[in-house]
Amino acid sequence: MSDVTIIGAGVAGLWAARSCLARGLRPRLIDRTGAPGPHGCSWWAGGMLAPECEGALAEPLIVAHGRKAAALWRQVTELHEQGTLVLAPERDRAELDRFAARTEGHVTCDPDAITALEPDLGGRHRRGLFFTDEAHLDPRQALADLVEALATSGVTVETGMAEPSGLDGPVIDCRGLAARRDLAGLRGVRGEMIVLRTDEITLTRPIRLLHPRHPLYVVPRAGGRFMLGATQIETGARGGVTARSALELLSAAYALDPRFAEAEILEMGADLRPAFADNVPRVVRRGRILHLNGLFRHGFLMAPALAEQAAEFLSTGKTGDLFHED
Ligand SMILES: Cc1cc2nc3c(=O)[nH]c(=O)nc-3n(C[C@H](O)[C@H](O)[C@H](O)COP(=O)(O)OP(=O)(O)OC[C@H]3O[C@@H](n4cnc5c(N)ncnc54)[C@H](O)[C@@H]3O)c2cc1C
Repeated sequence: MSDVTIIGAGVAGLWAARSCLARGLRPRLIDRTGAPGPHGCSWWAGGMLAPECEGALAEPLIVAHGRKAAALWRQVTELHEQGTLVLAPERDRAELDRFAARTEGHVTCDPDAITALEPDLGGRHRRGLFFTDEAHLDPRQALADLVEALATSGVTVETGMAEPSGLDGPVIDCRGLAARRDLAGLRGVRGEMIVLRTDEITLTRPIRLLHPRHPLYVVPRAGGRFMLGATQIETGARGGVTARSALELLSAAYALDPRFAEAEILEMGADLRPAFADNVPRVVRRGRILHLNGLFRHGFLMAPALAEQAAEFLSTGKTGDLFHED
């Protein structure tokens, strides 16, 4: 017997289940494709928990909640707490000043400091910004770890289609972009990524390379793998990675370190990030249904906070600052 039904087992739905359990509510978790995989947007994420860097463009609400995300993820999966290094090609140095002016929590790095942080990039970049308190995780491992933790509490992902209106009792709708018809203004923002493998380069932390048109990040993963991400294209069209995007991502990686030219391409992938007009994730309350959606480029950063507010509402009736009444 369950207290609440959660639809969707992406990062939002899995965190919703975890937060409900923590508050003594027994969830039933349903996903149309089963456990997390390439069918969900969460599969394609970089796994950066970078509230300060995201703050260059994101609302203060996201920075404030995002700062608490690492402590919550640490309880679930292996977290790499090495900060973020932000660089810019020499001709785009002004980008670094603009980024520094729009963000907090960084120190400026000279060439020696860059070499000390990332010896493999030493000598290639003259100035950088080091965001000391940021973290990253492997998103696919993190999703698997969430599934496993839920299973130890007796909650498994049921495979099946569900619609909130077709269910009785409280529902947390975490269908991502599939909830578009029920949520006015929800749109898809395409993100494309490439995974490379090389033994020639070692990086310890995510590197962001600023560029006026094609900003890029590289997230190191185990086994000599590097995730290059991510485009941000205002289109609702699904599909694979375009040749243009592949060129941009690979050129930016080459600008960061020319040895990426010799790397093996393991994977290219794309999905649509669910986003509202202001790109702020929210809990939309409609009677007994709570929609957790619009996670945009902040799914891993914001899912713990959204889930906690949904679970708190179900157990106490209190609404948080991410709530919207419909
Ligand atoms: C290239 C890329 C890079 C990114 N990098 C980052 C990053 O570094 N950090 C970060 O925080 N975020 C990042 N994001 C954003 C993040 O991935 C998304 O915000 C997040 O995955 C959205 O999660 P979700 O749970 O809402 O949706 P999803 O992961 O899509 O999950 C929705 C689930 O609902 C299920 N479903 C749909 N309809 C039904 C139905 N009718 N019945 C049952 N189940 C249903 C689907 O099968 C799916 O599993 C990135 C995104 C992309 C594309």
